[in-house]
Amino acid sequence: MQLAHSPVTYHQFNGISFALKRDDLLHPQFSGNKARKLMTLLHTPSATFDRLISYGSAQANSLFSMAALAHLKGWSLDYYVDHIPAWLQQNPLGNYAKALELGANIISTRAYYDTSLTDHLSTLSVPQNACFIPEGGRFPQAEAGINTLAAELLEWFRHQPPQHWVVALPSGTGTSALYLHKALAPKNIQVVTCACVGGAEYLQSQWQELGETDYPTILGLDQKHHFGKLYPRDWSIWQQLAQETEIEFDLLYDPFMWQQLLEWWPKHAKEGMNLLYLHQGGQLGNTTMIKRYQRKYA
Ligand SMILES: *Cc1c(COP(=O)(O)O)cnc(C)c1O
Repeated sequence: MQLAHSPVTYHQFNGISFALKRDDLLHPQFSGNKARKLMTLLHTPSATFDRLISYGSAQANSLFSMAALAHLKGWSLDYYVDHIPAWLQQNPLGNYAKALELGANIISTRAYYDTSLTDHLSTLSVPQNACFIPEGGRFPQAEAGINTLAAELLEWFRHQPPQHWVVALPSGTGTSALYLHKALAPKNIQVVTCACVGGAEYLQSQWQELGETDYPTILGLDQKHHFGKLYPRDWSIWQQLAQETEIEFDLLYDPFMWQQLLEWWPKHAKEGMNLLYLHQGGQLGNTTMIKRYQRKYA
């Protein structure tokens, strides 16, 4: 299976024209940046492993993507979470529900081992027939899949009239932005991002741990954004985006990136400079976020 060549569409938001790389359309189940980051595993012979092991939140986009990958490869997935919120367990939704449908074993360490996720992970041993994936696919193996994305972008830029391109994408672990920057900087293409989890210092420490020394540009350095927290501004930007572009963006990451771009772009855009925004998927995860926003701001 070859997952590549997602389309590029054109849009306007608040007076900013931009091209949109639709990685959300790569595959009905295995899409977005998680698909790119896990692409190496998709191309690994099925007989290499019989199981994936990972961990994170019960609502994470990466849970669904790993479940889809395991399903495509005929592997099982053991996914450890600290706990499963009662409301989610009683009424499965979004990434959690779809991952269960795809056969994922979602293991609450509090419920099964009476211990925290962190403590459980410190004692976990990975058998030889299993592949361990760090949270969110933050591992050097992600580079190959992101390089495929970079190659597609370069090919697409080559077919456009000569312009200066800036590529924007929000960061969680920053793995996608880091490897995209590594591939595009030598071609004089600037990658801009923002820290949706834990602030700029945390993002830079994540990059350091991956062993790289040259980093993408971080916008909104002076602003802290708490992951998964509800912000009226995120909610209204997300709604405006949907209205103007008729595209559903992700609610956890994209509104904060756009908040930064709405400020930064008009100040920095020069003649001949163009914006390409990377749609990294995540719409399934919106189900639970929309419910939370509606409860709060109905
Ligand atoms: C996971 C995810 C991100 C963050 O990706 P990183 O490589 O961890 O920075 C951004 N947007 C969406 C929609 C995601 O699912």
